[in-house]
Amino acid sequence: MSKHYDLIAIGGGSGGLSAAERAAEYGKKTAIVENNKLGGTCVNVGCVPKKVMWFASGISETIHNASGYGFDVSLNDFDWGRLVAAREGYIQGILDWYGNYLADSNIDHLQGTGRFVDAHTVSVNGEQYTADHIVIAPGGKPLVPDIPGAEHMLTSDGFFALKEQPKRVAVIGAGYIAVELAGLLNGLGSEVSLLLRRDHFLSSFDAMLRETLMEEMVNAGVNIMPSISVERVERRDDGRLDIHCARGITLEGYDALICAIGREPNVAPLALDAAGVETDARNYIPTDEFQNTNVPGVYAVGDVTGRAQLTPVAVAAGRRLSDRLFNHQPERKLDYDLIPTVMFSHPPIGTIGMTEGEAREKHGEAVKVYQTRFTGMYHALCPNQQRTAMKLVCVGAEERIVGCHLIGQGVDEMLQGFAVAIKMGATKKDFDNTVAIHPTSSEELVTLR
Ligand code: FAD
Ligand code: NDP
Repeated sequence: MSKHYDLIAIGGGSGGLSAAERAAEYGKKTAIVENNKLGGTCVNVGCVPKKVMWFASGISETIHNASGYGFDVSLNDFDWGRLVAAREGYIQGILDWYGNYLADSNIDHLQGTGRFVDAHTVSVNGEQYTADHIVIAPGGKPLVPDIPGAEHMLTSDGFFALKEQPKRVAVIGAGYIAVELAGLLNGLGSEVSLLLRRDHFLSSFDAMLRETLMEEMVNAGVNIMPSISVERVERRDDGRLDIHCARGITLEGYDALICAIGREPNVAPLALDAAGVETDARNYIPTDEFQNTNVPGVYAVGDVTGRAQLTPVAVAAGRRLSDRLFNHQPERKLDYDLIPTVMFSHPPIGTIGMTEGEAREKHGEAVKVYQTRFTGMYHALCPNQQRTAMKLVCVGAEERIVGCHLIGQGVDEMLQGFAVAIKMGATKKDFDNTVAIHPTSSEELVTLR
């Protein structure tokens, strides 16, 4: 095997695989270095297993709602082990596919930890490999607070490793992962407390989304505890956890405590100094708009750049980088503006662009907001009258849409198409000129007044 490549990607997750696959499509000699499982966070301990659990939780919701439609059904049992086995079987199918795909595409898979020797040389298991172009894509790992008893906490990785359902769970955090895991565990029948250090969660989201989701989660039975700060965790003789918090508060007898307070970049093993690659104060690798690091021929994509930590962003950045390097497209790059994202909460959130607050700060009086809140037809007949809320944030006389914020059943699948229109520069009038699809919840977005 020749040890010189056109491109080496360090990290076989969303970003690294995408850059390598695209380079190989252009006939380039390519290798991927991966020290764990191909597919990275998304496939193994992120989007994919999370979405399976979210679907399961949704099935439980449907069973509870069925009586509203005349069905006499009850939820008799739920087998966590069976669900986890099915989930892992599905993931194994993806991993098998990757293995075959890499072999078929002539991409070398170097299993081990990649470390820089210099800007064009990577060492893996003591062997050295050189490349004209090296893409750094090692992703991130969960942050754990430095408090006594932190070793008793699970991170999202530990959550996905659970073989039994924790019946009584506390979740610390206020972002995507905390909110998603709290929601799906509650739906699956666990007793869930969500511990927030402030009085709200999802700080960067539009206030309407935050407030509506908070209401819905409380209605669904999640115990949301604001302004609480965990100081110490203790495992009792019976195996359960006591959570000691500030102001003398102790939360007693939990089966699991999940910590989801953010992630940090996975840079330590890379020996970046050997290549001269700079990091910022939080250890992320800054890049310019073309994913170039400060060292020529060395690039970074995905979570390690600290920008929009989402799978499709890592994928798009990796693919565009290889288009630029190997397909005569010198201006090809990812535009990080107007990235749509979905939170798989109960109900889900779909959001793109500026929040109302951000728009008012930037554009002042030129902002006009259209919004609605209703109980969709499906839920109107259900015992659980879940709400839907929608907001369009528009700017200027032409009312260009700069933000679209949705929460409610189905918005996870609804947003993508609207995101295309908004990315193309749609105005409120364009939405109004589109004939509605009836009866749906999405029709509300083209009939807002
Ligand atoms: P990763 O996918 O993390 O891949 C990095 C790979 O590099 C890993 O396989 C790692 O083992 C390997 N590696 C690291 N260092 C080295 C080294 N030195 N040598 C060799 N290999 C190395 N995003 C969404 O868009 N939608 C979702 O629904 C979603 N849900 C998520 C749920 C959870 C619980 C989590 C944690 C994340 C979720 N994300 C979601 C985010 C998404 O998973 C990440 O944005 C995405 O995986 C980033 O891709 P990446 O290539 O940058 O890194
Ligand atoms: P996030 O950055 O989304 O949220 C973490 C939050 O936890 C912070 O915003 C902060 O909120 C709170 N927090 C921080 N430190 C503490 C502390 N010591 N105690 C209590 N709370 C604390 O991180 P996540 O880990 O949830 O997710 C990481 C990233 O993964 C996301 O940003 C997202 O990009 C990606 N992801 C995407 C998903 C999707 O697309 N559906 C799903 C899951 C993850 P505050 O400051 O308000 O207290």
